[in-house]
Amino acid sequence: MKIAFIGLGNMGGGMAANLAKAGHQVRAFDLAEDALATARAKGCETFADAASACEGVEAVVSMLPNGDIVSQVYTDSVIGHASEGAVLMDCSTIDVATARDVIAAAEQAGYDMVDAPVSGGIAAAEGGTLTFMAGGSTAAFERARPVLEDMGKAVIHAGDAGNGQAAKICNNMLLAVQMIGTAEAFKLAEKLGLDPQTFYDISSVSSGQCWSMTSYCPVPGVGPKSPADNDYQGGFATALMLKDLRLAMDAAAGAHVNPRIGGRAKELYEAFDAAGHGSRDFSAIITEYD
Ligand code: NAD
Repeated sequence: MKIAFIGLGNMGGGMAANLAKAGHQVRAFDLAEDALATARAKGCETFADAASACEGVEAVVSMLPNGDIVSQVYTDSVIGHASEGAVLMDCSTIDVATARDVIAAAEQAGYDMVDAPVSGGIAAAEGGTLTFMAGGSTAAFERARPVLEDMGKAVIHAGDAGNGQAAKICNNMLLAVQMIGTAEAFKLAEKLGLDPQTFYDISSVSSGQCWSMTSYCPVPGVGPKSPADNDYQGGFATALMLKDLRLAMDAAAGAHVNPRIGGRAKELYEAFDAAGHGSRDFSAIITEYD
């Protein structure tokens, strides 16, 4: 397919490369010149602006920093430039309300569109093993699915427009809570005289078992290799986790829900970020208990 790809950063760069590798004709745009150069080296054609990249394409994929930028790019450069009836996929993590507004505007103009945020970090984007959670009509989802499958290992329909974002922020709120809980359990176990590996051996086969423990343990040298084994470099940055927690709390306020532990997790990550740890992996929050 002829596909425009807008936003070639840490995530989008690898995703666009995978679409080119799968045989699509990828027309790429980013504001950053180095991102364009990398995309060219990976088999994409690059353009001077987003509207030119979108001219005549059958599909558009975007991977951008926030909702304001997504809204602006779709209004100014995608709608009216992509071919009539093209299928549009925004894979950025943004607020539910903006996702729904942009999809409504795209549908009004005759396009099919899904919000399709991802789970999995930069390595999954490069390796083509992302999980996509997509919101939109069944028809839009079925058209988007094969393109998303070329960049991921799982593509799940989350329901109507905006539900992909809803799934993403609820998942990441749970992840933050789970990581803080895992960190606190390991620290308390240590203070009570338990060896961390012994606690892992017990809890990983008991009812405290969770992904933060058995796939992404915050204690160096315990469990499979994780950012903790690399001084908390790489992985999922604290600043990005904080962004997702803020989106979750804003959505909760709009829905008149009060996630008390989720709110506390946001406060703890806010303090950790403000203390200068924004670029460290989010599992580094365990060092706050040292
Ligand atoms: P990034 O900052 O590395 O990339 C964003 C890119 O968008 C940059 O290259 C920037 O130049 C470009 N950009 C900004 N405004 C633009 C515009 N108007 N037109 C064209 N390009 C523009 O960010 P990232 O880590 O790739 O994250 C992208 C999205 O994916 C975010 O919404 C993030 O929350 C989400 N996400 C990131 C991760 C991760 O581990 N990095 C994981 C899951 C989801």
